[in-house]
Amino acid sequence: MAEDVKSINFLEQLIEEDLANGLSPDKLRFRFPPEPNGYLHIGHAASICLNFGLGEKYNAPVNLRFDDTNPTKEEQEYVDAIKYDVEWLGFKWDKVCYSSDYFQQLYDWAVELIKKGKAYVDGQSAAAMAEQKGTPTTPGVASPHRGQSVEENLDLFERMKNGEFEAGRYVLRAKIDMASPNMLMRDPLLYRIVNKAHHRTGNDWCIYPMYDWAHGESDYIEQISHSLCTLEFKPHRELYDWFLDQIYEDTKLRPKQREFARRNLSYTVMSKRKLLALVQTKTVAGWDDPRMPTISGLRRRGYTPESIRKFSELSGISKRDSVTDVSLLEFCIREDLNKTATRVMGVLDPVKLVITNYPEDKEEMLIAENNPEDPNGGTHEVPFSRELYIEREDFKEEAGNKFFRLTIGNEVRLKSAYIIKGESVVKDAAGNITEIHCTCDPDSRSGSGTEASMRKVKGTLHWVSIKHAVKVEVREYDRLFLDEAPDSHGDKDFMDFVNPDSLKIIKEAYVEPFLKEAKLDDKFQFQRLGYFTLDKDATSDHLIFNKTVGLRDTWAKQQSKPEQQNDHPAAKPAQSQQQEQRSAINEIQKISKKYTNLSGDKLASARASIMNLAEGVSYEELQPLFNTAAKKVGTRIGVMITLGVLLNKGLVRNSEIDAFIEAGLNDANELLASEAKTIEAIK
Ligand code: ATP
Ligand code: MG
Repeated sequence: MAEDVKSINFLEQLIEEDLANGLSPDKLRFRFPPEPNGYLHIGHAASICLNFGLGEKYNAPVNLRFDDTNPTKEEQEYVDAIKYDVEWLGFKWDKVCYSSDYFQQLYDWAVELIKKGKAYVDGQSAAAMAEQKGTPTTPGVASPHRGQSVEENLDLFERMKNGEFEAGRYVLRAKIDMASPNMLMRDPLLYRIVNKAHHRTGNDWCIYPMYDWAHGESDYIEQISHSLCTLEFKPHRELYDWFLDQIYEDTKLRPKQREFARRNLSYTVMSKRKLLALVQTKTVAGWDDPRMPTISGLRRRGYTPESIRKFSELSGISKRDSVTDVSLLEFCIREDLNKTATRVMGVLDPVKLVITNYPEDKEEMLIAENNPEDPNGGTHEVPFSRELYIEREDFKEEAGNKFFRLTIGNEVRLKSAYIIKGESVVKDAAGNITEIHCTCDPDSRSGSGTEASMRKVKGTLHWVSIKHAVKVEVREYDRLFLDEAPDSHGDKDFMDFVNPDSLKIIKEAYVEPFLKEAKLDDKFQFQRLGYFTLDKDATSDHLIFNKTVGLRDTWAKQQSKPEQQNDHPAAKPAQSQQQEQRSAINEIQKISKKYTNLSGDKLASARASIMNLAEGVSYEELQPLFNTAAKKVGTRIGVMITLGVLLNKGLVRNSEIDAFIEAGLNDANELLASEAKTIEAIK
C-alpha cells in the first residue's frame, strides 16, 4: 500500500484555499525576515525551510529580508553570516531586501498618518506611558498629547527626524484605541529616537521605526502574499492589519500574516540573546562552536545541509509550541552520513598490539571499502605491519563470553586484515598493560578468498599501523546543557545548567595515513566510533577532527537498536527503505510493550525513540493498531505518540483518529491519557 499522497500542513492548506478563491499563483511570494543581530540557529532553519520550501513547491519567489530596524544590535557581520547560512542550506532567494531601504517610505507614510489624525507625538516618559496603558482587563488612559493638533505633531515629528532631541525625549504613536482588549492596539509606538549609526544607513536617520510598523509595511512594499511568523506574533496580527488598512490600495496585493509554532530543541537554548551570552561569557568558543545550535555550529560539527533539511521536514510545522528531541536531529545526521561518509580507522585511546608471528620488516597494503552503502564508493589502501594500535577498551585479559573483543586465548578479526589470537601481555611496574602480544592466522586475510578468511569469529576490531599512523587531535562533544529545557526554570538562569564536561579533547589519537588528505567538509566514519569531520582550526601538520555524532543513540540505546551493528563481521547489508519502514512500526511495538514499566530517563528516552521511529511509519501501518486490546496499554501509548508525530506532520484527522484519541483521553492510565491530551491540542 503506497502512501503517495503527501499530507500538507495547515499553512499549505491556507495557500490552497487562497488559490481556490481566486488568488493567482503568480502572486504568491514569501520572505524569510531575520534580524541581523546574531547568527542563525536551528529554529531559524524551520522558518527558512518553511518559506523557501513553499517557494520551491509553488514556484514562487522568496525574499531574504533583513529586518534591520534596531541599529543598537545589528551588524554587517551578521548579515554576511546569515546569507552564507541560507545559501549553505541550499536555498536561493529572489531578492535581498532590507527594511532600512524603506525608511523614507515608512517615514512618508507616518507623516500621512499624522495628517489624517491617526498618529501623534508623545513627550511623556516611558514609565508614564506604560502606566496609562492599563491592564488586559482595565482600559488605558489617554495621553495628554493625544489631542495635540496635526501641525504640532508634524512639527515635532520633523524635529525628531532632524535630530533636535535626545533619545527617549519623544516618540511617535499610532492613535488607535486605548480601551482595546488587545493591549497592542492601545496607541502603539511607531518611531523612537535612537542616536546611533546604522550599519547601512549610517547617520542618515536618528529615528527608527518599530518592528510592527516596519514589518507589515515592508511585506506590502515587497508584495509578500503570505507573511509567516512565529506564534508570539499572533496578537500582533490585529495591528498588522490596522497598519495595512492605513496604506492599502486595492489594486495591490494585501499580505496576510499567519503564525506557526517556534521550533524548540531539547538540551539547548534557541534565542539569539542567550546564544550571544554563551559567546560573550566564553562558555563556548564562538557562534560556530560545534556545541552551539547555530547553523554555523552544526556545520562545523559536521552536520550537512541535507540532514538539517530532513530534520525540518520530519519535525514538521505545527500550530502548537512543542520541544523536538535533539535525538531526532542526531538521527537525521546519522542517516545521512551513513550513506555518504568514507569509512576509515582511527584509535582514540591507543594500546600497542604486537603480532609476534608477523615479520618485523614486512608491510602490506590492504584494501578497505570506502562505503559499503555505496556500490560506487570505491576503496582505499590501508598499511598493515607487525605493530598496531588498538583501542584500550577492546582488550581484556579475561572476560565473560559476552565480551566480543580481544582476550587471551580468543580470536577476533582485525578489520580488513587478519584474524588474530591474544597470547600474552606486557605490563609496567604499576600493572598497566603496555603491550598486547598476539599471533595472526596468515591465511585469514580479508577478501583473500581462502577458507581461513571465511572463518567466523566473534568480533572485529579497528586498528592503525603504528609505523604509518598519523597523530591527530580529536574533539568530542556532549550536550551543552544538562537540563532538557534549560531556559524553562523561572527561578534559575539557563546558564546554571551548562554542562561543564561538554568538550573532551583527545590530544593523542592515531588515524590511518589516508586521512592526511582530509579536507574541510569531508565526512568520515571512524569505524565503530562514530562520524567525524575536520575542524577549521586544523593545519596540515596538526589535524583536528570533530566528532559529529556516535554511531548509535547512546541516550536511547537500551530501548531501541535501529542502527546497524557495525562491529560485527557478519553485519547485515543495509536494509531496503521498505524493510526499514516495516521494522519501524515493529520496533515501536517492541519498545511500547515495556513502556509502562519505565520511569525517569528511561521513560524519556523510550519516548524519544518512539518519536524517532514514528518518522518512518505511515498512517496505513499505524491505523490497524488502533484496535489494540485495551489492556495492552503500552502499545496504545506507543501508537498515540506515533499518531502525534504524524498529526504534527500534517496528517488530517478523521473519525477513526478522533475515536482513538477520545478513548485515550478517557483511559484510566495516566500516561495514555496525557499523551492523548497532548495530541488533542494539535489541530
Ligand atoms: P530569537 O528569539 O532567536 O532572537 P527572533 O524571532 O528574534 O529569534 P529573527 O531574526 O527575528 O529572530 O527571526 C527570523 C525569522 O525566523 C522570524 O520569522 C522568526 O519568527 C523565525 N524564527 C525565529 N526563531 C524561530 C524558531 N525557534 N522556530 C521557528 N522560527 C523561528
Ligand atoms: Mg525577532
